[in-house]
Amino acid sequence: MNVYDSERIAQELTARDYRQVHDPARADLILVNTCSVREKPEQKVYSALGRFRRLKKKNPKLIIGVGGCVAQQEGQGLLERVPFLDFVLGTKELCRIHEILDDLEKSGERGCAVNLDGRIDPYRGLALSPDPGRPTSFISIMQGCDNFCSFCVVPFVRGREVSRPSKDLMKEIGVLSSQGVKEVTLLGQNVNSYGKQTPGEPGFVELLERVEKIPGIERVRFTTSHPKDLSSELIQAFGRLTKLCEHIHLPLQSGSNRILKRMNRGYTREEYEEKVLNLRQTCPEISITSDIIVGFPGEEERDHQETLEMIRKIQFDDLFSFRYSDRPHTRASLFPDKIAEELKQRRLSELQAAQKDITQRKNQAWEGRDVEVLTEGPSKAKAEERTGRTRTNRIVNFPGDSVPIGALVRVRVWHALAHSLRGELL
Ligand code: SAH
Ligand code: SF4
Repeated sequence: MNVYDSERIAQELTARDYRQVHDPARADLILVNTCSVREKPEQKVYSALGRFRRLKKKNPKLIIGVGGCVAQQEGQGLLERVPFLDFVLGTKELCRIHEILDDLEKSGERGCAVNLDGRIDPYRGLALSPDPGRPTSFISIMQGCDNFCSFCVVPFVRGREVSRPSKDLMKEIGVLSSQGVKEVTLLGQNVNSYGKQTPGEPGFVELLERVEKIPGIERVRFTTSHPKDLSSELIQAFGRLTKLCEHIHLPLQSGSNRILKRMNRGYTREEYEEKVLNLRQTCPEISITSDIIVGFPGEEERDHQETLEMIRKIQFDDLFSFRYSDRPHTRASLFPDKIAEELKQRRLSELQAAQKDITQRKNQAWEGRDVEVLTEGPSKAKAEERTGRTRTNRIVNFPGDSVPIGALVRVRVWHALAHSLRGELL
């Protein structure tokens, strides 16, 4: 979501005659777009600002701003804490960037726009001028969250859930497609509730159907669907919609019902398992990935063992696991029974070791098979190779420097590595 927000702000700045540079030392304006979902990314903001401070010493005209969730969370306090900071731009007031820059240019007044009230579309009225030539793009279809999982800061930094108007989405995806985008990933904290609060709007599955029909769009993905709201209608869509890619990210968070309850997740491990079963019945190829938090307050050894057991049982294609960290305003941050960092680390290592074998086996199952790959660019390791992803969201590298970016090609997979596949162009 931050990648998408950064793109929209960059497009807004282009309308003010700014141009993107990739070396911070050459910039007239630096906006650090931030995440506060866990402690670690939040800390990174301050170290990044420390680096940019040195640039400002050399170039006092350099404007430095902070956007995103840390900006929203800290507000005016961030301007007080960081004296060389020029502005703070919250998550719902992206369009106020102009007013902030106008004030800075006119009077040097430092700006802070962090209003979060209401169910207001944060992308309203923004310029739309995406860079041409990219084969894939994110697009936020909704913002905010009303679920209040006890560990999560999102409802406090992204505000109440709001769906963007479907006509804006259709128009935007049409523009993206005309600029060469073949694959769109629809973003929201809980995409299943898209449109539910707005009379006259389609539901999420109908939205997927409409996106599929936009000329030039070959692949559609989405993230994230909350397990409690994953409807049978959406499960069926994986068997029916031809452009919907066979991948779902379905964050489990814990394999223990006791912990799931304390997390306020609204489902049990049994309900989760049932949904996975239905997904695999409808779409046997589907790749299922997940998120796990280890060391949630009060997590006992048996809870952890239950999570490990679920991991082995479900056999996720890939897993993102995190040590629990306290987040401001959350209920879990007030829970008394916190877990020691060493213990969290041990549990995380155990979980990651268990998943490593599973991911490897899942990847190996693709050896010898032919897959469709959307070519995204030169591979990271070798400029003469191409990289892209399968419909199941696996990275594939293959020799073929003449293959144009954005081409959908068939590749025979020869080797499965830890995080990618290697193959040859057919
Ligand atoms: N809306 C998504 C999750 C978005 S947050 C959902 O409900 O599934 C992305 C991931 O960050 C979460 O799935 C969770 O695993 C992790 N996360 C969120 N808050 C955290 C915290 N306080 N400590 C550690 N991990 C956290
Ligand atoms: Fe956070 Fe829960 Fe909302 Fe996901 S559903 S963003 S974890 S509160």
